[in-house]
Amino acid sequence: MPLRRTKIIATLGPASSGVDEIRALIRAGAACFRLNFSHGSGESMEPVVKKAREAMRLEGVDIPLLADIQGPKLRVGKMPEEGVTLMEGESFIITGRKVMGSSVEVYSPYEYLTQDVKPGTRILLADGALELEVEKIMGGDVYTRVLIGGRLYSNKGMNIPNTKLSVETLTQKDKEDLDYVSRADIDLVAISFVRNGRDIEQAREYLHGVGKPVLAKLEVTEAFENLDEIIESSDGVLIARGDLGVEVPFEKVPTLQKQILRKTALRGKWAMVATQMLGSMVLNSRPSRAEVSDVANAVIDGADALMLSEETAVGKHSSKAVEAMAKIAYEAEDCKQAEQHPFDSDIISFSAGAAGAAVSACERLRAKAIVVLAGSGTSALLLSKWKPRTPVLALGSKESSLRRANILRGVIPLRVKENSAVNEQISLADEYLVEKKFASYGDTVIIVGVATEGEEKEPNMIRFHKVGAVPEQSL
Ligand code: PEP
Repeated sequence: MPLRRTKIIATLGPASSGVDEIRALIRAGAACFRLNFSHGSGESMEPVVKKAREAMRLEGVDIPLLADIQGPKLRVGKMPEEGVTLMEGESFIITGRKVMGSSVEVYSPYEYLTQDVKPGTRILLADGALELEVEKIMGGDVYTRVLIGGRLYSNKGMNIPNTKLSVETLTQKDKEDLDYVSRADIDLVAISFVRNGRDIEQAREYLHGVGKPVLAKLEVTEAFENLDEIIESSDGVLIARGDLGVEVPFEKVPTLQKQILRKTALRGKWAMVATQMLGSMVLNSRPSRAEVSDVANAVIDGADALMLSEETAVGKHSSKAVEAMAKIAYEAEDCKQAEQHPFDSDIISFSAGAAGAAVSACERLRAKAIVVLAGSGTSALLLSKWKPRTPVLALGSKESSLRRANILRGVIPLRVKENSAVNEQISLADEYLVEKKFASYGDTVIIVGVATEGEEKEPNMIRFHKVGAVPEQSL
């Protein structure tokens, strides 16, 4: 049976808030759901969590929920409902005074604005649609000149590229949301506007050491000065091209995407590409050709997962968007130019060694799958980074690790009983592979595991096995 290896993460929102809609997304191929904490906070997310879990129960799957923590998104304040047009060349003030916006001025609640900008600083509004240049700062007012005009509406985003912001990455709301996530039936988190490794460590502190994976959303220029430490301290990265394409000139985004995907692969970390992947499908039932190409190229560049935002949150064709993404990804995975092995990786560990050796043996022996036995630590992640063409079956007994394995590229989690014997696990894997038509009796599979008792250990054993052969008594 053909396996699509790239995982799809679908954002839940008004268009996908009911159990039936969520079930449709699962059937279409979603491997994880994203809850966007920019549109809710803490306990207010609980009904969505419950509905998603109910949909999974009815579909007989158990997939992870990802909390996307808002971060310090800067915004302008209130404007008249119809918005206001800012004309190129005119002067415009951003102020700390709580005024109703007009063509002269707008309020911004960002308390450090006058301190962070200086004459010449560019300020972008409304996802970069409008551009201002700071001329002078007087008291609580920032006087700017409009470089690119346009219509400005209430609460639109404000970006100040190439500027070190004084605000902390985790806002009070983020800290409270993380506290909620630490207790909630949510599996992993993504932190927005990450600037350095310390931001990730702080997020882990507010998760109270519960060990939920923390992903870094890469979307501000400062993150690229500290990219190595961000990759090192996080469990993976999410290339948030929406804000990224405002913070850096948009023409730089494709190259940055390729560089980030390469770097994360070499470091054995998980990476996802997000935003506007199938944007036209918010309204249309078929993607544009450029979008098809963008999705395919993200797969060819080596993304482990792809994310849908508005397409599934507010789109008219949410499950069609997942289906389209699944088809495009499946086709792109076999492209000859697709990034495959993380050559040059400098990770030296038993897990990394076992991953490389297992993939190489798998190719040499034309094996049909790689089976990772329960308790083999990070092996499934590193195996997935080697991008084998066969499925990787990750056995486990813990709900948390099984769910997380679901977002790894090419990895299929399979539940086994706690402390089940190695032979029992191998027999179960054989049955699953045959039932799902990934292999037939007599085919070779590669087994990676720990030959000693205990949990969460680095693997120290690779074994070649014929599906259906009675496993030897011990390893
Ligand atoms: C993005 O900016 O691309 C992104 C994923 O973040 P958000 O949807 O929170 O703006």
